[in-house]
Amino acid sequence: MGVGHVAVAIGAAKAAPRVNAGWLVFAALLADFLLGIFAYFGLEHATVPPDFASKHYFLFTFPYSHGLLPLILWGVLLGLLISWPYGSARQRVFLVIAALVLSHFVLDALVHVAGLPLAGESSPKIGLGLYRNLPLELTLETVMTLVGAALYWKAAAGSAISRYGVILVTLIVLALTWTQLGLVIPPPPRAMIADWIAFPVILSAIIYGLDWKRVHAESAT
Ligand SMILES: [Zn+2]
Repeated sequence: MGVGHVAVAIGAAKAAPRVNAGWLVFAALLADFLLGIFAYFGLEHATVPPDFASKHYFLFTFPYSHGLLPLILWGVLLGLLISWPYGSARQRVFLVIAALVLSHFVLDALVHVAGLPLAGESSPKIGLGLYRNLPLELTLETVMTLVGAALYWKAAAGSAISRYGVILVTLIVLALTWTQLGLVIPPPPRAMIADWIAFPVILSAIIYGLDWKRVHAESAT
């Protein structure tokens, strides 16, 4: 799943108002960032199905970045790291971050065809395969984007820059997600690895900058 993860993250701004949405987006995309790191070291990979030109999706071997048990551990780790400076709100921030990391499993399990392992490559896999009907999958991501944007719109009432900026960037990511429908030639593995690593980092950094005003206004109240 693409923009759907970002939609959940910006929608969660209301649940942890003092946390910059850049962190929320990074938490929701952590699994894909880790996929890039593990793939770089040859531990995970994507397989191109023979009928890729008509199907437009990949089959993944990614037990460390997208497995349920590893994602619980990654969620606890990132949750502890990000929530540390938040004092009395620490527990709430921890739960929101950990839940966002774990939401990646739920959403990807809904769409992936080869499935996401529970604990290790040989363990049972969950994949409902919504990618088999890509227009439907993309429609679902579009609805999620609208809901996430509406929630963020409410959460960012104090800053017009954050409101328009974050929602505009999310709409651009939505447009990029739809381009999957026109993908007939798979990108080379190295380009995919660079994309998995860079996309979560760059997007989180942009959202961080745009959301700064909202968090500042929130902390002042
Ligand atoms: Zn993923």
